[in-house]
Amino acid sequence: MGYIDQTEYRLSCAHCNISETSTVLEKGSVYGSSGWQDGTSFSLFKTEWSGGGSQEPKLTLAVCNACERSATIESGYSL
Ligand SMILES: [Zn+2]
Repeated sequence: MGYIDQTEYRLSCAHCNISETSTVLEKGSVYGSSGWQDGTSFSLFKTEWSGGGSQEPKLTLAVCNACERSATIESGYSL
């Protein structure tokens, strides 16, 4: 019954009227050492991340694959 920290990201493109949600997990509770994933991947958006490892990764860039416009980023613990 381990509690795993996670942050949910929702990317959306108003131009294409699409959105996608993905979750970044903290690995600590699973592997016994603290550490975050380096980020998460999206199939509809190109993303770049900073951090990872001991720090919660931050999404620095999100671009729609279809139209290459900047995506709207929302993040939270329970979107
Ligand atoms: Zn788009």
